[in-house]
Amino acid sequence: MTFSSIHPTCPLCQSPRVMSRNWARKAAGAIGCAAGATGGFVGALRGAQIGIASGLMTGPAGSTIGGIAGAVLGGLAGTAIGCEVGTSVGKTIDARMLDNFKCLECKHVFARQESTCGYVDSD
Ligand SMILES: [Zn+2]
Repeated sequence: MTFSSIHPTCPLCQSPRVMSRNWARKAAGAIGCAAGATGGFVGALRGAQIGIASGLMTGPAGSTIGGIAGAVLGGLAGTAIGCEVGTSVGKTIDARMLDNFKCLECKHVFARQESTCGYVDSD
């Protein structure tokens, strides 16, 4: 994926001064992080339960340590996965659906051109 490093030119005035808007990536990334944090919270609870249960075999101290470790790991994993999924979904939406680029010279808004990527956009 070389998506973020591509700078197309404006199809109207041929200016290279074009900015990428990436609305969907930002929005989906934020949603994914929020969902991941929620999922991470559930994962933290489950991790804590598992940690406590497995720690019971080694005594009260093991149960406490196991619970904390399980909660931390569950929370981190859930948030990271949510952000990753949300951002990648947003990138796909940006790349395929939205008018994702804006010319800074003539203000023309346009979608990514087919020559900058492996797929062909027939529109
Ligand atoms: Zn232009």
